[in-house]
Amino acid sequence: MSNSELLNIFQKTDALLNGHFLLTSGRHSNQYFQCAKVLQYPEHTTRVCKIIADYFKEYKIDTVISPAIGGIVVGQEIARQLNTKFIFAERENKNLTLRRGFELSEGENVLVCEDVVTTGGSVFEVIDIVKSINANVVGVGMIVDRSNGKVDFGVPQVSTLQMEVVSYLSEDCPLCKEGTPAIKPGSRKI
Ligand SMILES: [Zn+2]
Repeated sequence: MSNSELLNIFQKTDALLNGHFLLTSGRHSNQYFQCAKVLQYPEHTTRVCKIIADYFKEYKIDTVISPAIGGIVVGQEIARQLNTKFIFAERENKNLTLRRGFELSEGENVLVCEDVVTTGGSVFEVIDIVKSINANVVGVGMIVDRSNGKVDFGVPQVSTLQMEVVSYLSEDCPLCKEGTPAIKPGSRKI
């Protein structure tokens, strides 16, 4: 799939929004990406995840793991395409952990998948879980890299879209100076 086809999917599903947004960090931005809007549609999920699955298909992956909640749909679909097991880590007392009887074995080859990476915090936490069990982190796949390639996980990594997120402190925000209100899209309060 070409980059313009991909952007077309993101735009027609309203995943990629232009406007005036209040980000989780408290900074303001003229762009916002809500990955879940794309993933509402299984046909789009299949096509977007194929880019990551194809990238890692020559690697011997046993298990795909994702941080909940955003990464679950993506990880499940990539595992389906690679014909591997899929598990996810979820927050318990603020730390990502394996629950529900999910397990990894020593020496297992693991691919970490996420929907949107900004600072990579959740992915780094999942990498730590995998390493703590002496399993191997083979790579990281993400739908959108909002760090524009700046976050380096130290293993092969691929994203379907790299974005440079331009953000401002509210007192310096040119959109505020134009007088439009900043809106808080999405939710990270789940
Ligand atoms: Zn603003």
